[in-house]
Amino acid sequence: AKDAGRAGFTIYTPQLEEEQNRKALIERELRIALEVGGLELHYQPQVCAMTGRLMGFEALARWCHPKLGNISPDEFVSVAEQSGLIHVLGEWALATACKEAATWEYDDLTIAVNLSPLQLRDAQIVNCVRRVLAESRLSPHRLELEITEGVFVFDTAQVRHTLDELRALGVGIAMDDFGTGYSSLNYLTRIPLTKLKIDRSFVSNFHLGKADDAVVHCVIGLSKSLRLSVVAEGVENESQLQALQLAGCDILQGYYFGRPTNTPKAFIVAAYSQSI
Ligand code: C2E
Ligand code: CA
Ligand code: CA
Ligand code: CA
Repeated sequence: AKDAGRAGFTIYTPQLEEEQNRKALIERELRIALEVGGLELHYQPQVCAMTGRLMGFEALARWCHPKLGNISPDEFVSVAEQSGLIHVLGEWALATACKEAATWEYDDLTIAVNLSPLQLRDAQIVNCVRRVLAESRLSPHRLELEITEGVFVFDTAQVRHTLDELRALGVGIAMDDFGTGYSSLNYLTRIPLTKLKIDRSFVSNFHLGKADDAVVHCVIGLSKSLRLSVVAEGVENESQLQALQLAGCDILQGYYFGRPTNTPKAFIVAAYSQSI
């Protein structure tokens, strides 16, 4: 529906108009929600592949609108990116996640926060992360920023510089959705990554002995040679778990271990009481 016409102009259709209305509505409501505290973070556990030990959580934004109901993060994050609200949303997510993690009784648990490429293009991001760390008193090595290959549509030299500065603060940097971004791999040795996250699309077919298996093995091998730790996301069943263990994956995340939850502390208590 959002197709540009052959001559490069947009053809307006009722469907397109409806999409535009929805976007405008979401933008207006998101602006309000960010002011009144209408968004929440949920936390999804990440576990050690070999021992099953809880390693930390990824923070994922949730928005249940009083009238519109649940709006998916894919939808509202994209509206936030198009409207400039992503900076407010991003700072809120960082601050909320760090504050929460600082209250966890086990102070080696990590907290991963998603960063939009637009946040990385903003030179203020380094000050923002520094301030959030200071205010939450979270130790920097517990924070991990998840970026995507989408950052490379911007000036790469500037992005690299910002990532170097962030890494210098002591935080980890994970490449999310690795392998889905159609970008060349030469960035791997040029930006200060600490982790690769294998995209769910490869993980869901892993163990079937198909082409996706080769990709997973390849990413795990690559991460070992680059001395990065490697996470598989979207692990949903026992056979994926076993195959990923066998393949040497370090960390696992997915519904099999836990859905994103708004009560991470309860999850932590349960995890630690089990392992005793
Ligand atoms: P993502 O960063 O790749 O997050 C992983 C997504 O996979 C999450 O979807 C998570 O709920 C889902 N997931 C986790 N395990 C499983 C599984 O076993 N099976 C299946 N089918 N799905 C699983 P979610 O929460 O809907 O988030 C979608 C995307 O929205 C995220 O993808 C991320 O790109 C974006 N997002 C969410 N929160 C934020 C945020 O605070 N800031 C930014 N910039 N983006 C965010
Ligand atoms: Ca992520
Ligand atoms: Ca991901
Ligand atoms: Ca994704």
